[in-house]
Amino acid sequence: MNYMEYLFNPRSIAVIGVSANPSKLGSVIYHKLMKNKKAGILKAEVYPVNPKLSQIGDVKVYPRISSIDNEVDLVVIAVPAESVPEVLREAGENNVKVAIIISGGFAEIGRNDLDRELRKIIEETGIRVLGPNTLGIVDPYTGVDTFFLPTYKPLSDGRIAESLPEVVAGNVAVISQSGALSEVIMDCLKVSGIGIRAIACVGNQVDLSIEDFLEYFAEDRLTKVIATYIEGVRNGRRLLNALVKASSKKPVVILKAGKTEVAKRAAYTHTASMVGNIEVYRGAFKQAGVIEVDNMEEMVDVVKVFSMLEPAKGNKLFVLTNAGGLAVITSDLALNYGLTLPDIPSDMKNILEKMRDEGKIPSIVVIQNPIDLTAQGTSEIFEEVYKIVSSTNYYDLYLLMPSHQPPAVDDTVIDRISKIALQNHHKLVVCEHGESEWSKIIRERFDSLGIPAYSDVKRAIRALSALASYKKPENRFFKDPPKEDKIRWLRDLPDGSLRIEHAVRILNEYDIETPKTILVRDRVELLEESKKISFPVVVKIYSGKITHKTDVGGVIVGVKNLGELEESYRMLENRMRELGLEWEGVMVQEMASGIELLVGSSWDNVFGPTITLGIGGVLTEILRDFSVRVAPVEPEEVIEMVNDLKMKKIFEGFRNIPPVNMEKLSEKISAFSKIIFENPSIKQLEINPLMVYGDKIVAVDVRGIISRT
Ligand code: ADP
Ligand code: MG
Repeated sequence: MNYMEYLFNPRSIAVIGVSANPSKLGSVIYHKLMKNKKAGILKAEVYPVNPKLSQIGDVKVYPRISSIDNEVDLVVIAVPAESVPEVLREAGENNVKVAIIISGGFAEIGRNDLDRELRKIIEETGIRVLGPNTLGIVDPYTGVDTFFLPTYKPLSDGRIAESLPEVVAGNVAVISQSGALSEVIMDCLKVSGIGIRAIACVGNQVDLSIEDFLEYFAEDRLTKVIATYIEGVRNGRRLLNALVKASSKKPVVILKAGKTEVAKRAAYTHTASMVGNIEVYRGAFKQAGVIEVDNMEEMVDVVKVFSMLEPAKGNKLFVLTNAGGLAVITSDLALNYGLTLPDIPSDMKNILEKMRDEGKIPSIVVIQNPIDLTAQGTSEIFEEVYKIVSSTNYYDLYLLMPSHQPPAVDDTVIDRISKIALQNHHKLVVCEHGESEWSKIIRERFDSLGIPAYSDVKRAIRALSALASYKKPENRFFKDPPKEDKIRWLRDLPDGSLRIEHAVRILNEYDIETPKTILVRDRVELLEESKKISFPVVVKIYSGKITHKTDVGGVIVGVKNLGELEESYRMLENRMRELGLEWEGVMVQEMASGIELLVGSSWDNVFGPTITLGIGGVLTEILRDFSVRVAPVEPEEVIEMVNDLKMKKIFEGFRNIPPVNMEKLSEKISAFSKIIFENPSIKQLEINPLMVYGDKIVAVDVRGIISRT
């Protein structure tokens, strides 16, 4: 048996730390397991262990694991942190397969030494460990449940109210890095009528990790969708590889906490100052094919839709309602969430118009998508229209909103609609607004029939868009960057900011063009060298001391002739004198034109090399329109990055600027993304702007940082 099998489906369980006091952790867990055993769900033998106790009621308590005559597959350890290593070692030496360490007081409070000790025991004995500092797992199929939380709790007025519903068996697997959050997920899913395959809280992950559970649930037959809550990981590439594997089997929905964290790196480039940890996570999740959600409500909504329906093939949505206002809201929302609302195909339209002419559909109804049946729409009309529109399978997704408030609609609409949807395996979602009894009953009945119902149109649309967006990722593997630089001469450069000529040379080695540039240090050179370049030109300060040249008035564009060139030279000379900087010369550069992009790369603590594409030039910081990925990226991923941009339309060309050659651009950016990955001494490298004019792609300005520490 695999160690995960021993965890979720052990033949025997020992609970260490059971005491005479029933409210102690170990006791709560023991009694919960015994309850599941009495109910016939838990098949495993359960042994209470405590050296200071011989009996609880009439049940024998074992002084230690070795005194249990049977083989023990799983131990649940709930004793003070200091005693955990000893207990774990005993378990390991007695051939126990897996331990869940519930106890806290380890690395999470700074006791890294205790975590290290556990790792040592794991290595020496071969036992596998979940935790420490965890609620453990809940598996409603096998009855293994170590969550020690009360199902009911008294209110101060004396009433007893349900505080954490018992889970129902279902197909949603939950992996959580936080105990508290997994309780909340448990509560929310239950209220939404969603069953759970299992919940696993990973705690401090001294051994079993998020990645292990992703792998397990990906292969697990009972799991249809995996909900994951993460706070942070140490090795981002390892997480990504596990996510890719899992989401190539089934949808993985992820909620990442800590989104507000700002970039802490030295902001030498725009990229480094703009791109925070969360943007990197967001891009990485897209690369792994994972569906990211922003909050708990979205998590539950999206998990619910995947729990009940299969992913959709496309994004064509049909909307039918009797509430005109909702139809309008839907149209706006659908577009925001990447869904389309194509018009009803003409043959169906003809049928529906004929029906309207015959009085079978209210005469005021406009036959379009969305259809608003108005308050006159009856349950029969809902059924008829839905049946006709869906008959050719033109649409990928359906959203039906039969608001119950108008008298014309009765509750037969539920069965009428469901019948069609279930027979044809439609991706149908229902939205019923309101908190009246009717509203709740309608939602509950749809849910119980396996048709996800939502109480808000935005939530329904979000769920539909998740259904449309899930695609199995390519067999992608995120390698670790190499230790040595591929560009050999980089090894001779000192740490610190790259000189422009070195940065340009790096780009050229990766086939990224730069405009013709000449360096001029005095007037004689100016007259001599300028013959080699054609006007118009740009004149820029050349100095190792200045990072952002425009900021100090160090860039003069549109210099049309020799006279203007001499004038610009003088101006920049003066400027340097004013700034009190040593004169190193000016760069005279051929003018490029087109769209200005920012292409940057930087090193992230969690994911290593990353790449950013944004709308660039001098507006970068104001626009903040950019997309991030883990480097390197393939050309196809660059296209996806472009699609992330709010201003992506400019790539289609505007005014006198021709459309961008996307194939060439994506190749160049893909090549750029390899620079930082293949040369680990480069910690930041940024082209700003990359000027793109149709086929012409030139890096007009580049800066970077070398650092080996
Ligand atoms: P910095 O970023 O240090 O201020 P740049 O070399 O990027 O300096 O120049 C600032 C701006 O001037 C660029 O964003 C671009 O708009 C314009 N510019 C610079 N060089 C050229 C060039 N060769 N062709 C066209 N425009 C240029
Ligand atoms: Mg620049």
